Amino acid sequence: MPPERIEKCPICRADSKQVVIGEPAGMKVECERCYRFEYVARAELELRELCNDFHDLRSWLRSESARQRGPYRFYPSGATVPADEPLSLTVEQALSISNMPSIPERLNRALTNISRLGRRAGEVVQFKVPEDWPLLYARSEEEAHYTLTALHAMEYLTDPPAGSIPRAVISPKGWERVEDLESVAGSKQVFVAMALGEPDPGKPDTKAAFKHGIAPAILRPKLGHRSRFEPFPVWEKPHSNKICEEILLEIRRSRAVVADLTYQRPNVYFEAGYAKGRGIPVIWLCHEDHFDSKKNDEGYYAHFDVRQHQCIQWREPEDILEQLPNYLEAILTP
Ligand SMILES: [Zn+2]
Repeated sequence: MPPERIEKCPICRADSKQVVIGEPAGMKVECERCYRFEYVARAELELRELCNDFHDLRSWLRSESARQRGPYRFYPSGATVPADEPLSLTVEQALSISNMPSIPERLNRALTNISRLGRRAGEVVQFKVPEDWPLLYARSEEEAHYTLTALHAMEYLTDPPAGSIPRAVISPKGWERVEDLESVAGSKQVFVAMALGEPDPGKPDTKAAFKHGIAPAILRPKLGHRSRFEPFPVWEKPHSNKICEEILLEIRRSRAVVADLTYQRPNVYFEAGYAKGRGIPVIWLCHEDHFDSKKNDEGYYAHFDVRQHQCIQWREPEDILEQLPNYLEAILTP
C-alpha cells in the first residue's frame, strides 16, 4: 500500500487524506467535506479550477455518500470513461449532474439528506460544523442556518435550529414530503434486479452482463435530453431479510426496473412484480438458454406468464448493450 499523505483536497482545498493509485494513475481522496472520491491525474487541474462550481459538486458527492453510493472516479472532460466503471464520470458530466441552482431544489435535497442520515422516526440528526454543511447544500454557516430555519418554517422539521451544533428532527409532515420527493417522477434511478454471484464456467455470466451490458446501457442511454440515469444494482447493499423494506424503498424511488430472469431467482420475480404493481415500468431480460429446455441441464426456464411480455434475450453482454438502450429510451423519454 502506498503511504497516505495529507494534501489539499482538489475540490474544496481543505486538508484531506490522499493515496496514490495506479491504472489509471491518480489519487484516492478522503475529505471530511467532500467524502471519498478518486481522480485520474489528468483531471486534477480541472478539479482545482472549479472555483464557483465546487460547492454543488461537493454537496452532490455528500448526498451520494448519504445514499451509500461511491466512491466516484473523475476523468477529465471529453475523456472516454471506461464502460466497466459505472461510478466513473468526467468532470463535465459531474458538473451537469450536480448543478442545481434553485433554492427550493436545495431545500428539497437537504431534507432528503436529513432523512437518509436518520431513518427512524424521531431520530436526531446532528451536523458536524462546518464539515457537514454540504449535506444541507450550504456554503456557510448562515446558509445552513437558513436551510434549517426554512425547513422548520415549512413544518418539515420539529424544531428551529438552536445553538452552535445544529440538529434536525423530521416531523410527520416532513416524512410525507420525503416520500413525495422520492416518488417516481423525479428519480434518475433504474433499479436492477438479477442473480448474484460468480458463474460456473460455460454458464450464463450475469455479473459480466451487468458490468458490460446493463450498467453502461443505463448510464448512457440514447436519450436526446441531458439527464443521466443511474443503475441501482441491489447487491450494492448487503442482502438480508432485515433490509427488505429498504430494497422496496429503492424500487419505489426508481423510474424503471431492469429484471434479469436468468437463473430464476424468486427475489427477482418478487421485485419486478412489486414494481409493476406500483406502476413502475419493468424491462425484462433473460439468457437465451432459458427459452430452450434442451440447452440447459439445470432446467432453468423463463416462466410462462413472463414469456408473454417482451423480453431481451441475450447471449453476450453486447446483446444487452445493443438492445437495452432502445427500451430505456422508450420508457424514460418524457
Ligand atoms: Zn474536499
